[in-house]
Amino acid sequence: MGTKQKEHLEKLNAKQKGKNNRNWRGGKYINGNGYIMVKSPNHPRANLGGYVFEHILIMEKHLGRFLKENEVTHHLNGIRNDNRIENLVVMTKTNHASLHRKEYLKKKGILSEEEKKKKNRIRAKNYYQRNKEQKLEYSKKHYQKKKGEKENRKL
Ligand SMILES: [Zn+2]
Repeated sequence: MGTKQKEHLEKLNAKQKGKNNRNWRGGKYINGNGYIMVKSPNHPRANLGGYVFEHILIMEKHLGRFLKENEVTHHLNGIRNDNRIENLVVMTKTNHASLHRKEYLKKKGILSEEEKKKKNRIRAKNYYQRNKEQKLEYSKKHYQKKKGEKENRKL
């Protein structure tokens, strides 16, 4: 590439940057995962381009402090660009991951170990209950039969 061409490209790039870009929306854009990003270059969580997730900024403003290393902001209704404060909640990374895992398994129709155990407990309980009722029913019938035989003998 010639020097002139290079200079031209650099000039173009400079024009496209930030406020000069015709896609400039006040320092906001939606990233590939559907999250709103806001220009905030001095923020500790800023990415290489100087952008931070808007939901983090909103939560931090609400809390009056930066999020801790192990904290994340979760969207309650699952809509990634619904950054109303009532849709946001702070969770630890561990709790957040397990929540999303549960949601994922539920969506896939896969029961977690915990849910399997619960289901088995209910099944066992129902079985036991049914068994008990059947035994009771049987002994009642048996008793009546014996009673009948006894009475017949008396006659
Ligand atoms: Zn989440």
